[in-house]
Amino acid sequence: MDSNHQSNCKLSKAEKKFLRKQMKARHTLLRHEGIEAVSYATQILVVANGGLGNSVSRNQLFPVLEKVGQVDSLLMPPNKPYSFVRYKTIEESKKAYVTLNGKEIVDDLGQKIILYLNFVEKAQWKELGLQALPPGLKIVEEIISSEDEKLLLESVNWTEDTDNQNIQKSLKHRRVKHFGYEFHYENNNVDKDKPLHGGLPDACDSILEKWLKEGFIRHKPDQLTVNQYEPGHGIPAHIDTHSAFEDEIISLSLGSEIVMDFKHPDGVTVPVMLPRRSLLVMTGESRYLWTHGITPRKYDTVQASKGHRSGIITGDVGNLTLCKRGIRTSFTFRKVRQTPCNCGYPLVCDSQMKEPPSLFPESDKEASQLEQEYVHRVYEEIAGHFSSTRHTPWPHIVEFLKALPSGSVVADIGCGNGKYLGINKELFMIGCDRSQKLVDICRERQFQAFVCDALAVPIRSGACDACISIAVIHHMATTERRVAALQELVRLLRPGGKALVYVWAMEQEYNNKKSKYLRENRTSQGKKEETDNGTSVGQLSVQQMPDAGNQDSTCSVPSMNDFQKGRCNSGHIAKSKLPIHTNRTAFHSQDLLVPWHLKGNPGKENPVEPSGPVGTHDLSPVFHRYYHVFCEGELEAACQTLSNVSVLQSYYDQGNWCVILQKV
Ligand code: MN
Ligand code: ZN
Repeated sequence: MDSNHQSNCKLSKAEKKFLRKQMKARHTLLRHEGIEAVSYATQILVVANGGLGNSVSRNQLFPVLEKVGQVDSLLMPPNKPYSFVRYKTIEESKKAYVTLNGKEIVDDLGQKIILYLNFVEKAQWKELGLQALPPGLKIVEEIISSEDEKLLLESVNWTEDTDNQNIQKSLKHRRVKHFGYEFHYENNNVDKDKPLHGGLPDACDSILEKWLKEGFIRHKPDQLTVNQYEPGHGIPAHIDTHSAFEDEIISLSLGSEIVMDFKHPDGVTVPVMLPRRSLLVMTGESRYLWTHGITPRKYDTVQASKGHRSGIITGDVGNLTLCKRGIRTSFTFRKVRQTPCNCGYPLVCDSQMKEPPSLFPESDKEASQLEQEYVHRVYEEIAGHFSSTRHTPWPHIVEFLKALPSGSVVADIGCGNGKYLGINKELFMIGCDRSQKLVDICRERQFQAFVCDALAVPIRSGACDACISIAVIHHMATTERRVAALQELVRLLRPGGKALVYVWAMEQEYNNKKSKYLRENRTSQGKKEETDNGTSVGQLSVQQMPDAGNQDSTCSVPSMNDFQKGRCNSGHIAKSKLPIHTNRTAFHSQDLLVPWHLKGNPGKENPVEPSGPVGTHDLSPVFHRYYHVFCEGELEAACQTLSNVSVLQSYYDQGNWCVILQKV
């Protein structure tokens, strides 16, 4: 401790606050990263907040650390908000601990960041996993000359808007132009019978011929999509539709390098550097099974001394830094597929999928597959955007949580982005969700959360004083599974414990009141871009309600038997396809797919841009989420079949059916 501290027996308010924050940083590192700080001096310090994942580059951090003493090494793990510094001697690391703790530095985006240091025995962090290029992926560096690069870039005329030959669209987050065939973002496919006039630009032809001859590509593409990404732009993770294009997909990076993230369905992410003037070739597994996408941000984590060559980024963490993005134009060439895809990845193959899925899954396995494809996978994809639209807690849910005695242990099963986890600070709340990304968001917010299935929650029976399940059970595809999810909630409760459950209601008009969702649709002309999106930013917070007024769907005095048939107004239950719901219109089925229009990443690095020359056209990809909307009485009836529980309360709240259960 330095003399300033010694002279003050009593800590000032500011010092107390600082110590608290330092402890918090220490706990966060231990809990989420397994980094254990020690209370004695060592040569190595973990620098919380001073990490690449926090927009702090090597160039900014290193001089700050070096000022205090001789730095032996600085390890900056990719995408982590911390780094490790090893000093030559313990004396120097001690000095760093004393002088740099609480130090404010300015990050690469010009924002102030406060560093918190703690001693550690060794530098270690959670690895990202597999560190090899996805199978079938290849990058050919310097595939074209600077002259050809210039030529190609000039061949794209971004300004002309009378060009009806080649379709140009201005997106919110990037500019796009199509040649050969137009790519439709509504269904992520091309109109195979309607090739565009003019084919591919002449400038491309000779280049493609050359690549063919030299063996870089196997077949000649007939479709070209030109994308222009400014710093801060991105493209959501996706797999190019199997049925739309042949196996080989190639993408030429011009103007600037960029890091593209490849992700295996198991969750392994491999960030890959695509250097300027390189060609990315995706075939086989990397084309069919892995998603690819570009995170919208202004800086990429890159190798500090490799000269930004292609390859995986997470190699040598002693050698990573940030690199400012430039304007990148990609030429993505694909060959339109004329016959259905018969690849070896049927689970992600639209040609081989029964699509849309059958209305009533016949087995538990079918149901769980449907949920996997139309709930879990979708939430994983839309997590960031979804979370950005979920911030307002619902009053009755807040009321329930605030009324619980302090010290209660409460589980939020299906906690989403964790917006209820911090409502009542007197509770010990823990959240879980099926989506890793949503759980990550909870953790970033310093909440306790873990990934699990709502049908098998790894919490001991009777461990909870209360549980909440908000907008979760309507994602279960059979009556049995919905009942099982309720039973699982009850299992977690101690005798006397309470559970609050919210599910979507089929009825959107109740007691002559239309739901917010419907009312919103009436007033949302022009101004509201997202009318068909299913999201209404900052308004409805948990869910978006399709509207009311569907008289023939009203059900009276239903029993569980009625519900077991799958819908309350029985009849026509033939095995049919799941209907796709039009957002903010009436429900015509209890089981349906609700579209979600993904809007890039509305984070701070992604300001809303003015519309481009051709007028705004929403090219965001559409995802479909499976729902079973509940009729009046259905949720209660399901609860009646549970053992050890009584229904304390049952009510309707803004298009939801809700119950409060108590374990007896
Ligand atoms: Mn793609
Ligand atoms: Zn396929």
